[in-house]
Parts: sequence; C-alpha cells; structure tokens
Amino acid sequence: MRSHLLNDTTAERYRSSVTEGIERVAAKLATTDRPFTGVTVDALAPRIDAIDLDRPLHDTAAVLDELEDVYLRDAIYFHHPRYLAHLNCPVVIPAVVGEAVLSAVNSSLDTWDQSAGGTLIERKLIDWTTARIGLGENADGVFTSGGTQSNLQALLLAREEAKPGRVGWEEGASFAKLRIFASEVSHFSVKKSAKLLGLSPDSVVSIPVDHDKRMQTVALAHELERCKKDGLVPMAVVATAGTTDFGSIDPLPEIAELCEQYGTWMHVDAAYGCGLLASIKYRDRIDGIERADSVTVDYHKSFFQPVSSSAVLVRDAATLRHATYHAEYLNPRRMVQERIPNQVDKSLQTTRRFDALKLWMTLRTMGADGIGQLFDEVCDLAVEGWQLLAADPRFDVVVQPSLSTLVFRYIPAAVTDPADIDRANLYARKALFASGDAVVAGTKVGGRHYLKFTLLNPETQASDIAAVLDLIAGHAEQYLGETVVRAS
Ligand SMILES: *Cc1c(COP(=O)(O)O)cnc(C)c1O
Repeated sequence: MRSHLLNDTTAERYRSSVTEGIERVAAKLATTDRPFTGVTVDALAPRIDAIDLDRPLHDTAAVLDELEDVYLRDAIYFHHPRYLAHLNCPVVIPAVVGEAVLSAVNSSLDTWDQSAGGTLIERKLIDWTTARIGLGENADGVFTSGGTQSNLQALLLAREEAKPGRVGWEEGASFAKLRIFASEVSHFSVKKSAKLLGLSPDSVVSIPVDHDKRMQTVALAHELERCKKDGLVPMAVVATAGTTDFGSIDPLPEIAELCEQYGTWMHVDAAYGCGLLASIKYRDRIDGIERADSVTVDYHKSFFQPVSSSAVLVRDAATLRHATYHAEYLNPRRMVQERIPNQVDKSLQTTRRFDALKLWMTLRTMGADGIGQLFDEVCDLAVEGWQLLAADPRFDVVVQPSLSTLVFRYIPAAVTDPADIDRANLYARKALFASGDAVVAGTKVGGRHYLKFTLLNPETQASDIAAVLDLIAGHAEQYLGETVVRAS
C-alpha cells in the first residue's frame, strides 16, 4: 500500500496516474456535445449504490473506468457554451495547473510553519485585491472557502465593531438590538450569518429595490433613521455589487454616505461583481466600493477560477483580531511579537487549502487584463442577449444587465392565465434539463416564475442564446398545447 503514498520513491506512479486522470478529462472535454446528458436521479443512484467501497479495484485505470460510469459521463459541464444556468464559470488552464500543484504539495495556510511561501503568496494576492478595490494602506483580508463564509466573517467583524462606543449601544445591551440592512434581493447568506451570529430573527431589515433591482437608498435612509429612533443599533449595511439573481449593483456611493452618517459598517458583497475589478471597460460600475469597511469577492465566480477561491477584505486590518484565538500548539501569542505570519490569526478556518495559488498562476500567466477581457466579453454578450429578448415578442425580459445575467419568461400570445404561463416556464426549464441540450436557471419575480441565464462563458455566442430561446419556446408551446388545450 505504500506505493500509493506520494513521495520520492513514487514520482513515476504519481506522474502516470495523474496523467491518466487528466487524459480522461481531456478526452471528455473534447467530445462533450451537450452540457448534460439529462440523466435522472433514479437512473444514476443505483449505479453508485451498487459500488462496494470495501472492495477496492487497486488499479487507477479500472477506477477511472468506473468513474466514467458514475460521474464523468453524466456530470454537468460548465465549459459547454450552452450551460447558462448558475454562477459557475469555465475555468482557466493556469488555475487548473495551480490546483494540481497545490493538492500535491498540500500546504496548509493556517501557519507559516505549514506553508512558508504559500503564506506570502496569499498575502500578496490579498494586497493586490485590496489595491484594486482601493481600500487603502491599512487594508488586509484572507482567502475563504466562498462568498458565504466571507459574508459571515465580515458580519462577525461588523458585529464586534458595532458594540463599543456606537450610537444606541450601552453596557448590557444584547445582540437583540443589532440590525443589518440588505436589499430584498441580497444573498441568503446574510440571513444565515445573522442567525449564526446570534442576532435576533428580525435583525435583517429588507430594503426594497427599484425597477433595476438596486437597493432604494431613500428607503435605506428611512430605515436607518427609524432604527435610531427605536433605540436600536445599525450594525451593518450590506450593499450587493452584483446580485445573484439579476447582476444588479446597489448604488455604492450613496450607501457609503449613509453608512458614514449613521456610523454603520459598510459591507459590499461583490461575490459576483468582483470581476469588474479586473475589467478594462466597466470598472466604473463598482465605483464606491473603495469606501467599504469589508468586501466579499468570489474569484470562483468571475475570475474563472475553480471552486473554491474566495476572499474577505477589510479596510482596517486591526478588525481581523475579532477572529483571532491563540493555541500553544499552533500559533502562540509570542509568534505575533516575533512577526511570524500565521494566517490562521485572521481566518475562521484552521487547516486551509492554498487556493490562492490558482489566482497566482492565473495572474502570472494571463495578467489581470486577461481576466478582465474575458469578463468584459460575457458582459457584452449579455447586452446582445438582452437585445434579442427585448425584440422577441415571445419573451418578457426583466432588467437591462449590469453584469452578465438575463432574467426573462416565455409569454404565449394566446394564453392569459398567469398560472399557465408559470407552469409553461417551469416545464420548459425542466424539459430542457432533461434533454441536456442546454441548462438554464429560474427564479421568481413579483411572485411569478421566470427563467435565468447567467452568462460566464466567453465561448457562448449570441447564436447559442437564440438557439436556446427557440428550444425554450418549443418546450413551453408543447406543454401549453398538450395541457391547456386538453383542459379547455
Ligand atoms: C454566490 C454568492 C454568494 C455565496 O457565495 P458562495 O461562494 O456560493 O458561498 C454570496 N453573495 C452573492 C451576491 C453571491 O452571488
């Protein structure tokens, strides 16, 4: 069994085994003609159930053959131009090289003595990101597993900073007084974080959005004022720079003004919109982000990085102390005086992947402009898609894209019952998924079912969008033809 350990004596096995795995994936990528096979849970589950984990195959080729059957054949392929569903990007090759390196070396970024250069590389990428945002000299941050964890950590810091000396907070006050303000289309991790942070069930105040799905700052000002009047504490405003559903960007400068006025922590959730930090054409769309106290970025959404790759950034490095605990065995307090850089002092995680290496390889190979150019292409594609939808009488499209998302629905000319229109759209999404021809997402707008394209693949063409719209219309028409006609 020792021959399976990766070390000086097994270099040849390592090389050949990893190469075999890479060959399978390369062959798959080259021959995948649809984003999905349309396999059902009922068809796939028995194949996985049938495998006896206590009877290993011992041989890499045999295991890869089996993997083809239980995973590779029926996986969802984000690199395919007709995968248009969620916030998943095709990945860039330099990052995949980084992934191979980081898992083989297996550094752990909690302490210097488990990572050395890895720690310094991560720190340099954090500095690079805070400089792109414009957070100033005292900024810092840390890589995380994703936007959910970044938002949680940012709100933990905001909670701790809200306590002393802030308006409305007196000794003995409980977390029940704290309020977070976020738009009605902000990410659900804000509410989850509030729960994990021990805040009250009504701690997250939902602020309505305007026609373009951007937070209404007049309503925010009103709620902040009411919070103050009620003797509550405005702990944080979460501005979303790229909402998950619409890609809409809250008015950051106006929100920054209000945060300053009310002494409130400004968190910008740029999990999606962070791609604009590298943009060549559209960087100004997130102007105002530099005024944030904390920022969430998901490189695994708009920097074309493999999952996971995310970070939380803060204006004031000192605030990260709220996540600091010392353990004698790992990061004793004296190491701070000795200036030994232990990233665990800033992180919610302990053992932690060297995900930063993927971004490092990407920037060293392609440069920031390379990433920005790819992101600009998908933003431009979204505009083309919007024009197609707006000109097509079969569809209703919701907002003009600020990033690369389109939300729309099929509206048949002859059908007037809104419930039938809802069902036709739901059916079209399911039928499309089952066919594997394309994958699209869905959401609700004003209580009605809509469909969604999240465009993150620069290989997707306007002609793909047009073809998928025809497929959607075809499925919806078929459904209405079969059910509505039969019922009447
Ligand atoms: C995706 C997303 C998140 C959550 O990020 P994960 O990486 O999926 O944990 C948070 N906020 C917004 C706006 C997002 O789009």
